[in-house]
Amino acid sequence: MSKSRYYKNGATLRAGMMALLTGLGVSACGNADEAAETAAAGDNTQTATTGTPSGDQAMAETSAPAEAHAASQFAVVNGPEILVATQAQFPDAQPVAVQRPNSGFTIGYEGTPLLPDGKWRVHDPERPRPEVVEPQTGVFVPPPSDAVVLFDGTSFDGFRTANDGAPDWVVENGSLRVPSDIPHTVSADIVSTREFGDAQYHIEWRSPAEPVSGSQGRGNSGIFLMGRYEVQVLDSYQNETYADGQASAIYGWKPPLKNATLPPGEWQSYDIVFEAPRFDDDGDLLNPAFVTVFHNGVLTQYRQNFLGVSGYQNILPYEAHPPQGPLRLQDHGNPVEYRNIWVRELDLGAND
Ligand code: MG
Repeated sequence: MSKSRYYKNGATLRAGMMALLTGLGVSACGNADEAAETAAAGDNTQTATTGTPSGDQAMAETSAPAEAHAASQFAVVNGPEILVATQAQFPDAQPVAVQRPNSGFTIGYEGTPLLPDGKWRVHDPERPRPEVVEPQTGVFVPPPSDAVVLFDGTSFDGFRTANDGAPDWVVENGSLRVPSDIPHTVSADIVSTREFGDAQYHIEWRSPAEPVSGSQGRGNSGIFLMGRYEVQVLDSYQNETYADGQASAIYGWKPPLKNATLPPGEWQSYDIVFEAPRFDDDGDLLNPAFVTVFHNGVLTQYRQNFLGVSGYQNILPYEAHPPQGPLRLQDHGNPVEYRNIWVRELDLGAND
């Protein structure tokens, strides 16, 4: 019997989707204790039901204890349906590469699994390409005081090579470059020595000034958050490829909202907010991973969930993992460069 391909995780995934139903809101009173005392005094009861209160009475009325708010003034509403993969969705047969006439390059595949939107397949050549927007420049931000600097232009110390036998990336002229010009058969992906969960990332990258190929062969790399969840790096400037493989796509799933790619040879920026997935003690998924991405200052992903671990030509489910993981940068055989890479660990409930 076939298992449902995706499942909806209702209550848990909707956690936090609270809405204010009444207009009363939270008081801007300076002293909540004082106001609560006034509320308990009794003579403001009438005020609450008659006309517009003023002065101390108004303060008292809008400063009820939090428990009272919870019962009457807030409600859980249905959030957007969030779908994740529950099992691997490998294609039934070898996917067939599709080439556009006059394009020497593969611009998509047929025969790949259907995505949960029910409309497009993984790497679907027919899926519309995002509209182009032209940023004037990347956004180059020095690390704030609480950032962990993974690469400052001088040292490889923030990373290590992921695979034994792979060549080192090249640190030169303030950048960190994929060693594609060194013949190698082992993928030279690198991973950060520090690990992160919920985090803000700033990453600058540059694709080769003189592209030597097309589609996915042009300026391809990738940013794997927690080592697993890929935000694509690609030279998507006037370079036709499948929509879910463009720069700042969630690879194999969500194209960027806009194509904000600068011309090859120019430094570009990603500012990423990543929310790590959560698993229960049995390893079952409680919350998927979410990502928000600004590409050269343009919003390209907004709190978009990952279906599972990133794959190629398929859909993979989540697999339970520790609450922190490394940043992994992909060696895809193109000499993409990186610089100014920093991370801020996030406590998203800091002021609750
Ligand atoms: Mg990639």
